[in-house]
Amino acid sequence: LVQLSMPLNFMGMIYREIKQALIDIDDMFRILHQNPEIADRPGAAPLVAGSAAVRFENVHFAYIPERPILKGISFEVPPGKTVAIVGPSGAGKSTLSRLMFRFYEPQVGRILVDGQDIAAVTQESLRAAIGMVPQDTVLFNDTIGYNIRYGCWDATPAQVREAARLAQIDRFIDALPEGFDTPVGERGLKLSGGEKQRVAIARTILKGPPILVLDEATSALDSFTEREIQDALDRVSRGRTTLVIAHRLSTVVNADEILVLDRGVIVERGRHGDLLAADGVYAAMWNRQREVDEARAVLNRAGEET
Ligand code: ATP
Repeated sequence: LVQLSMPLNFMGMIYREIKQALIDIDDMFRILHQNPEIADRPGAAPLVAGSAAVRFENVHFAYIPERPILKGISFEVPPGKTVAIVGPSGAGKSTLSRLMFRFYEPQVGRILVDGQDIAAVTQESLRAAIGMVPQDTVLFNDTIGYNIRYGCWDATPAQVREAARLAQIDRFIDALPEGFDTPVGERGLKLSGGEKQRVAIARTILKGPPILVLDEATSALDSFTEREIQDALDRVSRGRTTLVIAHRLSTVVNADEILVLDRGVIVERGRHGDLLAADGVYAAMWNRQREVDEARAVLNRAGEET
């Protein structure tokens, strides 16, 4: 019986390993090939990204024909500047970031990087030029160091450490039992949303792309974590052409331009101060958020006192 159970145990172990590997590959596919229908055109040239000006020209988009999501979006992110997109849930904000990464293509209009239509360049070269910090980062079942290095395989340990420092995750990593070699993900240490986001920021810092697309987490973070992540994001976006999908208005105060998106159209645009003075949709959102923040602060204080 012992002779029989050993190979069975072994097979069980192999089965679990294969199953886990398949889950990893599945995740990879989700990340790398979100929409397999988008293919490179025959003879597509690589993107030549210099100062990385991004331009949306009259972009119309629908996931299904009978439900238009974006209806004629035009804006520009000048080299090194930051444009923030705000608006109610379902307005189409994250859809803009998916189009930027070419997971989907506009039905009308174009998206240009340094004058090149992104539909005409190779996807590989486009994605190499863009750093994406998504709302929810998928971590690989490997060490935290591997997860930061992912895609930058020639980075030295010193570079990985420096990226972690800039993303403000180094102290957290140093406190782990095996430091950068600590396993994370489903089979290792589970990280919080804020920690995962900082791993994604460190990965992006290491990659050093000219364009950044930041999709802020909608989940409420405590104000200390939010501040830390904000600092890390400010640092990584400095000097890079940045499109930020902002769920918290505190992020957008310093943006070079804010676009207010509602039901697929830009209903207001400008800098924070100008939009407040205009006393329109943005100003109303700002005041509502302030009330929420104040209510939260009162509740926190009450919690501390009890
Ligand atoms: P939130 O602030 O809640 O993240 P959002 O402004 O980013 O919202 P999008 O994610 O861009 O909104 O979605 C815009 C609309 O498109 C939503 O109504 C959504 O239901 C729809 N949508 C998103 N993805 C798909 C998809 N893959 N297929 C069909 N419809 C989709």
